Amino acid sequence: MKKVSLKIKLTLLYTVFILIVVGTVLGILFSLSGREMLASTKLSLERRVEECLEEIEMKDGELEIDSDFYSVENGVYLSMYDSTGYFLYGKIPRGFDKQPDFSDGEVRQIKDAAGESEWYVYDLFFRPGKDMEIYVRGVISVTEAEESFRTILRSAFILLPLLAAATAFVGYRFTKRTLRPVKDITDTVCKIRTDADLSRRIENIDDIKEVREVKEGQHRENRDEIYILAKTFNGMLDELETVFKREKQFTSDVSHELRTPVSVMLAQCDRILKDETLKPEQKVQIELIKQKAKNMSDLIAQLLFLSRADQGRQQINRENINLSELTEMVVGEQQFLAESKGCASRIVCRIEPEIWAEVDETLYIRMMMNLLSNALRYGRNRDIEVSLSIHNDSEIIGKVKDHGVGIANEDLSHIWERFYRADKSRTEGNHCGLGLSMVKWIAEAHGGSVEVVSEEGVGSEFIFHLSKAM
Ligand code: ADP
Repeated sequence: MKKVSLKIKLTLLYTVFILIVVGTVLGILFSLSGREMLASTKLSLERRVEECLEEIEMKDGELEIDSDFYSVENGVYLSMYDSTGYFLYGKIPRGFDKQPDFSDGEVRQIKDAAGESEWYVYDLFFRPGKDMEIYVRGVISVTEAEESFRTILRSAFILLPLLAAATAFVGYRFTKRTLRPVKDITDTVCKIRTDADLSRRIENIDDIKEVREVKEGQHRENRDEIYILAKTFNGMLDELETVFKREKQFTSDVSHELRTPVSVMLAQCDRILKDETLKPEQKVQIELIKQKAKNMSDLIAQLLFLSRADQGRQQINRENINLSELTEMVVGEQQFLAESKGCASRIVCRIEPEIWAEVDETLYIRMMMNLLSNALRYGRNRDIEVSLSIHNDSEIIGKVKDHGVGIANEDLSHIWERFYRADKSRTEGNHCGLGLSMVKWIAEAHGGSVEVVSEEGVGSEFIFHLSKAM
């Protein structure tokens, strides 16, 4: 039952419940009415026979009988016999072929010869005149009464499933309508997660509340639990959005405030380093300060980039650029930088020539630099492969593959988050977990995407997709 939706579960629950209740009630009713039906058949037979005695009179030594005697009322057939059992008058039902002996004032159940039909027979002895003795016999078919009872029973068994189907249908529609806001809430949460867009809200929230007219011009709202849940959820999103906006504003403000002092520090370091009177160890100390200030300046630049991106102020200047040449140039620079730092990795290129695309040159360089510097940094001095190719004449696929430390499965989905570092112990330089956030933003800002395939201890491959013309 795990995968069955709540709507179906609820519908099943009360449909089964209704079936059990109605079934039980009908069962009780029918078992009682079966007996009731037989008792009332007997009673109407007795009544009819007793009443008919009033329709028999003696006139001038002759029997005079009312014409009603012939009519079949409530299924009761009346007949009259003399004291020897000779048939005098009346009607005998078809199929009632036995003529049992007379038994005064007793209802008996008689079966026909074939044993197919059953009858109730009721005889009364009557003396309409001095020398006249007769028997009046009433006969009623039990089989017919039972048959009509069975017809009612059959109809009930046809109606019961129909009733259950109608209950299930109406119940399902009602539950679906009631639970629709819950689905809206779930959809909103999913969209917020995929788009990281906190400005979304549960829409049509006012449809949930039932507005009931009480008096003319006045109305009362029936705010049910789901309406309150949706409203609370929207309230919570308002607060979260405000907090996130404040946090982003704070990062932006701090970065701006720090930019000038760090620039001053760098400029001062350069000035001091030009001083020829400095002792070698003082020079080393100043160089160290300068290096740290440079890292800080890079970090501030990254923060400013991301906060501009968040606020939609990061400009994208697209130009038709030869991506093949640009990629080779960035690779060459990174290779040179790596060698100067003593890194033994070689960057092997497989770049299709003459791939042109409309991209922002600066942003593309920044994206490639981040991917390559990561590959060199985490590549354990092994060779790195860079490829760029075009598919279906429209899609550009770039890959940066290393054979380094790789990324653990539990870190894979987080590496695109800001300040996330899989290896928290390595904090030197300006590597503080912002690089891949920028890569993702740049790829998406160009209408593309980026993904990673990685295995811990084996290596990682970052793949980006861009379209040729934006
Ligand atoms: P950082 O500046 O710390 O490298 P990034 O955003 O560029 O930040 O990367 C986030 C994290 O992803 C890194 O801390 C690292 O753990 C992991 N990572 C990125 N690239 C690679 C790679 N090529 N191989 C292994 N891990 C990587």
